[in-house]
Amino acid sequence: MSIENLRTAVRGGVLLPGDAEFDRAAQPWNTAVVQSVAGVVEVADAQDVAAVLEYARRAGRVVVTQPTGHGATGDIDGAILVRTSRFDSIDIDGEQRVARVGSGAQWGRVQAAASAHGLAGLSGSNPVVGVTGYTLGGGFGWFARKYGWASSAVRAVEIVDAAGRPQRVTADSDPDLFWALRGGGGDFGIVTGLEFELVELPRLYGGRVMWPAERTREVFEVFTELTTDAPAELSVWLQRYQIPGIAPTVAIDFAYLGDSAEGRHLTRRLDTIDGIIADTRGELTPAEIGKITAEPTDPSPSLSRGELLTELDDAVVKTLIEAPVAPLLNVQIRGLGGALAENRPGDGARGAVTEPYALYLLGLGLPHLLDDIRGRITEITDALGTQITGTKPYTFLAPGESAAAAFDPDTLARLREIKRNRDPHNVIRANFPVQG
Ligand SMILES: Cc1cc2nc3c(=O)[nH]c(=O)nc-3n(C[C@H](O)[C@H](O)[C@H](O)COP(=O)(O)OP(=O)(O)OC[C@H]3O[C@@H](n4cnc5c(N)ncnc54)[C@H](O)[C@@H]3O)c2cc1C
Repeated sequence: MSIENLRTAVRGGVLLPGDAEFDRAAQPWNTAVVQSVAGVVEVADAQDVAAVLEYARRAGRVVVTQPTGHGATGDIDGAILVRTSRFDSIDIDGEQRVARVGSGAQWGRVQAAASAHGLAGLSGSNPVVGVTGYTLGGGFGWFARKYGWASSAVRAVEIVDAAGRPQRVTADSDPDLFWALRGGGGDFGIVTGLEFELVELPRLYGGRVMWPAERTREVFEVFTELTTDAPAELSVWLQRYQIPGIAPTVAIDFAYLGDSAEGRHLTRRLDTIDGIIADTRGELTPAEIGKITAEPTDPSPSLSRGELLTELDDAVVKTLIEAPVAPLLNVQIRGLGGALAENRPGDGARGAVTEPYALYLLGLGLPHLLDDIRGRITEITDALGTQITGTKPYTFLAPGESAAAAFDPDTLARLREIKRNRDPHNVIRANFPVQG
């Protein structure tokens, strides 16, 4: 069955190799990842999604959905890539404290709409990350120690299932599928819309305080203290940077979900370290949450590795604090705990993460740097030994890794069973498939 048939099967846009815009459409946000897909479909509605699935089933192809490609792995040769940018509706019910969003929505626009009602969604650090991929994978950021995983806030998921049927999945309508969709990734249907609870949060306090790298040891000590006894409302991340051509730096990023006087008081130890070179602390609305880390929003090439740390002992200090950052760009340690460590009844497949810290290593994904960056990441993870558990949040998986690293064996087995039942021909493929 020719791929050209897709052009007449859907109302949305179809781009095939040779079309002028094909390369741009197939390119994910992470420009270091190459996706040799057979075609890209910008679906217009749920019927289009069903038509793509029908075509793929008959043609023996798989369908990968990527709103943005932040989590792209490149391992999808010959797939049909679905883009959901036309599913961009955002509807905030201020009274019920609920957001209903199309599956192409990005966090920045959702937070802006929610902020207008004094509300916030449980986003991560970056405004252009897609709500759907982030939430299907669990999703954790500045709100998570207090309110838990983004997936736990989901109340309904609208999908087109592998057989092409539109469904609204809730805890009552289909408990198994609802469980899998909340943290188990994008393997179980093609999502067209999400409905999730918002939290009341008119303002918060936070920002970044930065020093020259010579202060790294002192900053690390304050980071350890702050994260050891922080209330759930306070989240603190340590950042070491080595941007080419600029002197290395160290920073503390934090958010306090409360008023500025209390936030300032809780983080007062930051002012005891001399030599501050940048300080963005201040009141923020949830819509401004991306300002804390000021991550790139334009497509960028990157190579990353996420891990969970069991403790901050001498081996961690030697490897992550005393050694130079280069050839990496960024070493980030996020304080976890709080609601992330709790197993709460009714949570989905994500479940608790009890490790107290997450580690994120980031390099610039340019071809001439890749070998050095991969080598350095291996050196670091080898040196950390038993200080890393090898498990990691689903949204921190990197190309080459498997979903098996994100779940305990029972959870993985249940996800696989649900996948086999709901998509027996394996037509839908997540960035990190639960089948491995
Ligand atoms: C700069 C940056 C910052 C980040 N910050 C955080 C953070 O603070 N916290 C955190 O938890 N994660 C973070 N992440 C990771 C991010 O959450 C994951 O990469 C996530 O998968 C991105 O979702 P997306 O929809 O934007 O990406 P995409 O790559 O477009 O989609 C990811 C996957 O989600 C699934 N999916 C998406 N849409 C659908 C759909 N409609 N139907 C079915 N499946 C679908 C698919 O499996 C798809 O492959 C960050 C990533 C980057 C690059």
